[in-house]
Amino acid sequence: MLPFKLVYSDGYYLPIGRHVFPAEKYRRIRDRLLTTGVAEANDFLEPKIASDQDILLVHKPEYVHKLKSGTLSPREEMEMEVPYSRDLVDAFWLAAGGSILAARQALVYRAAFNIGGGFHHAFPDHGEGFCMIHDIAVAIRRLQRDDKIRTAMTIDCDVHQGNGTAAIFAGTRTASEPLPSVSASTLKRLRPAGPVGKMRGTQAGDVFTISLHQHNNYPMWKPPSSIDVDLPDGIGDDDYLAWLDNALSSGLRQFDPDLLCYIAGADPYCEDQLGGLSLTIDGLMKRDELVFRVARARDIPVMVTFAGGYAQKVEDTVTIHTNTVIAAKEVFGGSAQKMAG
Ligand SMILES: [Zn+2]
Repeated sequence: MLPFKLVYSDGYYLPIGRHVFPAEKYRRIRDRLLTTGVAEANDFLEPKIASDQDILLVHKPEYVHKLKSGTLSPREEMEMEVPYSRDLVDAFWLAAGGSILAARQALVYRAAFNIGGGFHHAFPDHGEGFCMIHDIAVAIRRLQRDDKIRTAMTIDCDVHQGNGTAAIFAGTRTASEPLPSVSASTLKRLRPAGPVGKMRGTQAGDVFTISLHQHNNYPMWKPPSSIDVDLPDGIGDDDYLAWLDNALSSGLRQFDPDLLCYIAGADPYCEDQLGGLSLTIDGLMKRDELVFRVARARDIPVMVTFAGGYAQKVEDTVTIHTNTVIAAKEVFGGSAQKMAG
């Protein structure tokens, strides 16, 4: 049995027809976790659909009304890049319910997964980039409303910038203190020549947002996160892990969250169709381990969502997401054994 819970429903399937987004990945991850013995049936919890009231904690009433009544304009539907249907609305509402449940479970078990979600390109008043509803933001606002948490930090490792997250949780628009440059010198040693990433900071409100992403990729307009790491094309495992370490240390020096929301996109993978970074499957698992080790060392509950993943072979996307669960099992399982001993 896992030392944490996995939230999953067959209703996560997105009815979008033939699409670069592999809508069946959630079911395949669940199946892989069970057939390989990583998880057992009783590790899974079935989510409830989020209420409209929950969705309205983040999204504008006019937008929610358009979604529920099927009255998006053609331009709004095009921007979402997934074909509108009432079933699709239900799938996104369910994903938000799943993230609420996963966040609550994280407070109990120190870690929890939504085997879905991570729709970080949804804005309060519109959807884009395959995202209709920002499930993570809904979960954070619901837990804040219930007085379960006061603050949260998002660490977004999808290859695309978390523009919806940044817009929803935008803090005061003043430049923050210059970011520490200790790890930056390490990075220079790692990559003495060639392109170097850039780290930008903005003051946070009650939610501190970190995004590590490929600079030359969607979204064109990147609203400022609390920390944005703009990565150059093609960087590999070592550079990426150094930047992640740097961003996490810098974020946690500035902010003490009650919950960490890890957006574990599979698309920084070298064979991703919509990504331009060069991480290996092993490197991506090291990324997961790093996030979980930091969360465990500081005793911050961590909630995981999966976001994007468009590998040439869907099998690879499934492997990368499954490895995230294995990484958490290694990190948090060790901790549970230690506590039992
Ligand atoms: Zn992505």
